[in-house]
Amino acid sequence: MNLILLGPPGAGKGTQARRLEDTRGLVQLSTGDMLRAMVAEGGPLGQQAKEIMAAGKLMPDELMVSMIAERISKPDVKNGFILDGFPRTVAQAEALDKLLAAKKLELDAVIEFKVDAEKLVDRIVRRAEDAKAAGQPVRKDDNPEVFRKRLEEFRALTAALTPFYAKSGLLKSVDGMAPIEEVTSAIRAALE
Ligand code: AMP
Repeated sequence: MNLILLGPPGAGKGTQARRLEDTRGLVQLSTGDMLRAMVAEGGPLGQQAKEIMAAGKLMPDELMVSMIAERISKPDVKNGFILDGFPRTVAQAEALDKLLAAKKLELDAVIEFKVDAEKLVDRIVRRAEDAKAAGQPVRKDDNPEVFRKRLEEFRALTAALTPFYAKSGLLKSVDGMAPIEEVTSAIRAALE
């Protein structure tokens, strides 16, 4: 099964992707995680990614598409994948369609997380506090100022993916503001 999780930052995509990995044997492909790993490695591309992410902006489409193309070709995704944070623009979605067609792969569903964007700011502040309390690193872009920019980028560029996937009949919506367990159940129901 091949899935896309669609929704603004802080909507809970990562949490649900990890649950889908555990229950369905799928592999979570988070472009945000891939970029953070690239930043940690250093190098000129890592430096560019660091600056763009710190500003809450999006990385260039071509780079993201080639990153996903390479990742999807690895043997561990043969049981299926969950795209988390990709695609984020219509250009990325169109490139993904071509990529999957060339590999004779299909998408099974696009799960849209419906959320109240204003409430997400509180959620992100809590995510940063929880990470800190657990002694985990806090994401540099999980602060209210950059987060608002990330939400703006979502509205300007990523929201258009809802009508894009609705047209193909793949779109399923869940209430991303519901408690985690309820979102998990709603996704299970949507995939049945
Ligand atoms: P995320 O962890 O998905 O919230 O991503 C963190 C940051 O990585 C985003 O704010 C963007 O700067 C960058 N990023 C992640 N995925 C993409 C993508 N598909 N296209 C462009 N930029 C991305």
